[in-house]
Amino acid sequence: MTDTSPTLPIGGLRVHLVDLPVRSVRKHGIGSFSRALNVIVELRAEGGLVGWGEACPWPAFTGTAEAAAAALDIHFRPHLVGADGFCTAALMARLDKVAVGATEAKAAVETALLDLKAKALGVPLYDLLGGARCRRIPLSVSLADSELDKDLALAEACLADGIKIFKVKTGFADHSFDIERLEALRHRFGMKIDLRIDYNQGLHPSDALAKVRDLEAFRPSFIEQPVPAAQREALAAIARALDTPIMADESVFSPEDALRAAKDRIADLFSVKLQKAGGFTRALEIAAIAQAAGIGLYGGSMFEAGVANLAGAHMMAVLPEARYGCEYYTASRYLTADILTAAFPIEAGEVVVPAAPGLGIEVDPDRLAHHSLESRG
Ligand SMILES: [Mg+2]
Repeated sequence: MTDTSPTLPIGGLRVHLVDLPVRSVRKHGIGSFSRALNVIVELRAEGGLVGWGEACPWPAFTGTAEAAAAALDIHFRPHLVGADGFCTAALMARLDKVAVGATEAKAAVETALLDLKAKALGVPLYDLLGGARCRRIPLSVSLADSELDKDLALAEACLADGIKIFKVKTGFADHSFDIERLEALRHRFGMKIDLRIDYNQGLHPSDALAKVRDLEAFRPSFIEQPVPAAQREALAAIARALDTPIMADESVFSPEDALRAAKDRIADLFSVKLQKAGGFTRALEIAAIAQAAGIGLYGGSMFEAGVANLAGAHMMAVLPEARYGCEYYTASRYLTADILTAAFPIEAGEVVVPAAPGLGIEVDPDRLAHHSLESRG
C-alpha cells in the first residue's frame, strides 16, 4: 500500500542567539536578572513556509543560552533537517532520546514545528492542541525592583492600561523590606489590585512558615515557591498550614515532577511553563495531572520575547481553566525591544490570543538581525 499522507519536508534550520535590551535590573530570591540572552529558532520548510520558536534560559533557573544554542545547532539539527514537519510528536520523542534536559531548546523546537504545521494547514496554533477554550487571558505583571518607588510607578502605569494583577518578587532582601513593599502597594491601591507573591526559592525552610504567615495579612491570591526546589516536604508543610494557596514553580518542571507533587500534595497550584516542561506536549501533560488532582494552573514565563510569550498564550488558550491568568508581560513591559512585526497583543489587562495561522504574529527579519549576536545554519 502506498503511503499517501501529506508531508512537510524541513529544508533548513537557523539558530539565532539574540541579546535583547531590558528595562531594569530585577531582583529575585535566587538572584538578579539583567540580560535577556535568548535563542530564536527559524525552521524553514521546502516551499518557503517558516516556523518560529524561542528558547529563554535563565542560568539561575533552567540553564544557559549558549547550551540551548549548542543543543539546537549541533545535536538537534541532524534530526530536524530533512524530516517531515507534520510528524511533530515523533520528532519530539526522538529529541528526548538525543539529549536529556535541554528543555528550553525542546520548547523552541516544538513551538517552531507547530507554528510551521499550523501555517501549512492555515489554522491558529491552538487548533493543533484541541482548539481554544478562551482567547482572552488575564495578565499579571511582576514587580521586582529594589527601589520601591519604581515598582509603585510601574504599577500605576499598568493600572492606567487596565492591568490589575501584580506579582511581587520577595525574599531578595530583608523580610521587613518585603512587608514595607506590600504595605505600600495595599496602601496606595487598596483591594482594587490582585496581589500575588513569588519568593523564587528565597526562604530557608527553618523560618519560611513564620515569614509567609506574616505576608498572608496582605491578602495575596497565592504565594509562589517560598523554599528551594528540592525542599518538597517543607513546601508541602507550608501548603498544609496556610489558607492562602501555595504555588509550585521551580519544584515542578516535568510531568514526572507534577505527578509526585500531586501525590505528595506539595502545592495547591502549578506554574506551567513551556520552557521548564520542554514544550507543549509535556506542558499539557502537567496540566492534565493538575486537573485530575484538583490543582490550579497558572501561565508562568521566563524572560521571554514575543515568540515565547505568544507560544505561552496558545498553551493557555487550550487549558481547562485559567483562573489565575498568566504573566506574559515580558515582551511588552520588560524588554525594551522585540522581534515581532507587531506589538504583543494585550487589551484592557488581558492577553488576546491571535487567531491568525500559526503563532499569529510574524518575526521581523530586520529586528531579528539587529538583535542577533550570531546566527548559525
Ligand atoms: Mg516563579
